[in-house]
Amino acid sequence: MEKYKTIDFSRFSSIKIGPKIKVKIIDENNYNGEFLIGNATNTLVSPNAKNLGILDEKYDFIEYKNGILKVGGKTKNRKLYRFAKEHNLGGFEFLAHLPGTVGGSVKMNAGVKEEEISNNLLALKTDKLREKKEFNFSYRHSDIKDPVFEALFEIKRDYDPALDIKLKNMRKNQPSLPSLGSVFKNPKGDYAGRLIEAVGMRGMVKGGIMVSDIHANFFVNTGGGSFEDMLYLINLAKKRVFETFGITLEEEIKIL
Ligand SMILES: Cc1cc2nc3c(=O)[nH]c(=O)nc-3n(C[C@H](O)[C@H](O)[C@H](O)COP(=O)(O)OP(=O)(O)OC[C@H]3O[C@@H](n4cnc5c(N)ncnc54)[C@H](O)[C@@H]3O)c2cc1C
Repeated sequence: MEKYKTIDFSRFSSIKIGPKIKVKIIDENNYNGEFLIGNATNTLVSPNAKNLGILDEKYDFIEYKNGILKVGGKTKNRKLYRFAKEHNLGGFEFLAHLPGTVGGSVKMNAGVKEEEISNNLLALKTDKLREKKEFNFSYRHSDIKDPVFEALFEIKRDYDPALDIKLKNMRKNQPSLPSLGSVFKNPKGDYAGRLIEAVGMRGMVKGGIMVSDIHANFFVNTGGGSFEDMLYLINLAKKRVFETFGITLEEEIKIL
């Protein structure tokens, strides 16, 4: 018998948008092409979304042995950050302020300028244990198609408290209202936020969504923002940036 749970995405997702729907609980034996949800911190869920899956609770774990960290795909980034800090393991300082799960973060190759989650990655357990090189990691991209049940990381250095503080300080000018983080990837040699600002959209409001006046690549929910409000602003930003600069902005967020 398949197991399901009901998730209200207007509460669960970090932008507080989405329907209340049944989501299949996924383990290694029952995956059948469902769209995986981690913590929905980078996913905009439409009112018509269906066929969603979420990993079983048993994939929330961390084990450390002989210089190798084995982490379940459902584990929260923040939990991994804390574990690494407590055990003096370096390379995870940037996860302190990066919401989401390890599975979602590996799929997105999440990171900051200094670090990406794939840097210390050795292998992933998807349909079977596979080496990192099979997944072609690049800036906010991987070729991962299956659920990430486990990630294996190599520890190359000690925890770096100075780096931890530096990264923390960099977060200080980030919007605090609900968002999905950066909506667009930065085009080569430029910043999506700069381009959106240059086409006059900083602070622009549609319904309950505002293009943040702190960081124009963050679209924030000021209350009651909808899927349609987000789409409107996303499409407008793409249109204006293309017409003005000839640059095609590519979404970093996933839209369902
Ligand atoms: C305030 C804020 C700040 C942010 N800052 C950053 C930042 O600095 N850098 C950055 O890179 N990102 C940032 N993000 C985006 C987000 O935190 C990351 O992309 C995060 O890694 C997504 O994790 P998630 O579990 O929420 O993934 P979800 O949004 O749930 O899913 C993202 C993608 O991963 C897939 N996925 C989810 N779980 C799994 C799994 N177990 N196996 C396979 N695929 C899976 C989904 O199908 C989807 O394609 C920020 C977001 C917010 C809200």
